[in-house]
Parts: sequence; C-alpha cells; structure tokens
Amino acid sequence: MISLQMSRKTSQIQSRKQLWRLFSTISLPSSQQAEPPSFGIAFDIDGVVLRGSTPIGGATKALRRLYDDYGVLKIPFIFLTNGGGVRESKRAAELSEFLGVKISPLQVVQGHSPFKQMVNRFENELIVAVGKGEPATVMSEYGFKNVISIDEYALCFDNIDPLAPYKKWSTMEAAVSSTKKSIINSARVQAAFVVSDSVDWSRDVQVLCDILRTGGLPGSEEGPQPPLFFAHDDLKYQGAFSSERFGMGAFRIALESIFNSIHTKALTYASVGKPNPVAFKNAEVVLKQLASSLHHDLTTVDHANSRSHDFQKLYMIGDNPLVDIKGARQAGHPWFPILTRTGVFKGDPHSNHAEFPANLVVDTVEDAVNFILRNELIKS
Ligand SMILES: [Mg+2]
Repeated sequence: MISLQMSRKTSQIQSRKQLWRLFSTISLPSSQQAEPPSFGIAFDIDGVVLRGSTPIGGATKALRRLYDDYGVLKIPFIFLTNGGGVRESKRAAELSEFLGVKISPLQVVQGHSPFKQMVNRFENELIVAVGKGEPATVMSEYGFKNVISIDEYALCFDNIDPLAPYKKWSTMEAAVSSTKKSIINSARVQAAFVVSDSVDWSRDVQVLCDILRTGGLPGSEEGPQPPLFFAHDDLKYQGAFSSERFGMGAFRIALESIFNSIHTKALTYASVGKPNPVAFKNAEVVLKQLASSLHHDLTTVDHANSRSHDFQKLYMIGDNPLVDIKGARQAGHPWFPILTRTGVFKGDPHSNHAEFPANLVVDTVEDAVNFILRNELIKS
C-alpha cells in the first residue's frame, strides 16, 4: 500500500515536472523564457556544509532554495572541494544522503578531478596512485589504463616497509600474484599521483622516496625523478574533530623534507586543487555545462552550448582563507569569494582575513546563500 502510494506520488511529481518543463520552454512569452542564470555558486564542503557527515550552518535549508518546488535544480551550483579518494558518482550519492537534496555527479568537483586532463600524457604508462579510499579506481575511471594503488605496489616489493609486521591493520584482502610482482618489479613508474590523504605516512614516504630517487624503480640506482602530482596542498582542514586536522599539505612537507635530506636535487611537484587557478577555471567550465543543462536531464550535457554561456558572477563559499578565498581572488572575474565562520576561519563577526580578505564574511553558508539570492533578486 505504502509503495503504491509512493509510486502514485512519484508519477504525479514526474508529470508535474514534465508539465513544468513544457511550460517553461513553450508556453512562456519569449521574454520570460528560462535563460541560464547569469550567476553560479561553488560550495566548499568541509567546514562549510558538513563537519564529517553532519550538515552545518543551515546547509540543508540553504541548498533547498536552489531547487524548485518539485526538486528540480534552478540555480547552477557545484561542490568544489579539495577532498576526495572516491569517484565523483559515489561522492554525489553520499552528499545527497547527508544533505537531503539530489546531487548529480556533475556537481562534484574534487581536488583530483583535474587529473582527468593528464590522461593523454600518462594513459598507458605505469603510474602509482596514493591515498585513502579508492585512488586507483578513481584514476582508472578517468582513463588511466596502467594504474596501481600504493597499497598494492608496496606488496610487490618484499620488505620495502620494515614496519609492516608491526602494523595491526590490513590494507589488502589478498596478496598480489607472482606474475604481477615480477611485472611491477621490472617496470619503471612514470608518475606518482597523491589522489587523497595518505593513510600510512611512514610507508608512503618510504615508498615514494624509493620511486622518486631511483627514476621509478625501488632498489635500483639513482635516476631522474618521475613527475609527482598532488590533488591539493591543504595544510589542515576542519573535520569532525573540534580542532583542524593535518591535510595533504602536511604530508607533502614531510615527504619533501625527507626527500631533500637524502637527495641532492630538491623534490619537484605540482598540486592541482584549490587555490590553483586551474581548479577555478575547471569549476567555471563545469558550472557553464550545468547552467546550459538546467532544463534538460543532467546526464545529457550540451557541451557545445556550454561554451557560449558567460557568467556575470560566480560565488565561491569557503571556510579557508588560504585555499578558498586566495584561490577565488587569484582567479579574478567573475569569482566573488565569500568566507564563512564555521570552519578554519574563526575570526570575530566583523573581521576578515588580513592577507586574503573575502568580498564578504558571513557566519554560515545559509547567510551566504541568503545574500546571493537577495543580491540576484531571486525570491524563493
Ligand atoms: Mg573547507
């Protein structure tokens, strides 16, 4: 009975959606036809909309205002986070559950999302993916065909981690095959990607130093350093604990410091997430695609049309001045940085960050969305 009622309700909503879409594209006079909005929003996640898996700052209510009465997205927005380690589709499903609104994978841009653009360079090369979650799965979904996680890679070299017998946790279900071992033992790693936060710093620093100082083959002579990429360089972030936790930037400092102590040439690396302008350029492209598809199924994005849409303003709502605000300021027009006080930044209500001031400082993400909708004269 309940399922019948639910399915009737769903079909009513579906038909109302269809009617609404029809109405918005056919029945309105041309001057009122739905145009893609001239603005978009990028939300940081940790310390802005979530702490761990708990919504904060009125996030659920604020996000609902960006959808119509039937749950159809009306304002283009994405999550622009440096976090990651899972596929965008999985993260979208988690966010939908935590925040109570329907999030499409297209709306999730993670620190490692720009790695997609490096597929041409490393498509068939042996690469190592580091970090929590499913770093190798993420990279193979992007199109890298010869990627191995550092967990599996370390298992291919006997005794590479002398502390392994003392570690009480297990990272792999099964040992690697002898065939795979012999392939990996004789191939050179062409690049290392730190996709998400390292779980086992001591092993990862050791194995990465082995790879990077030997030209990609642990145990061999010194050789030229293969390229090293980090998804981001956040020193700390606001998680579920009351004070900030060390992020990927802290791991980078540890790795770089040790590498430079044992090697004559300094470590070279690049990080692609916020505040790198590449992350904001990529976010703008995604928001354009989203704006163009607002009245279509989000799975069928009109890429050609997306290039012609220009935003007057893109709001970046973040809690970290050195990451979110610095990045939006560096990216310039049309970015408009808004700083919340629910995460890393804990200044007084009327203060701002001295080095990287935001255009606006608010208490919560809900205040930020209220400001934006008021500023854009949208009633909802
Ligand atoms: Mg944050």
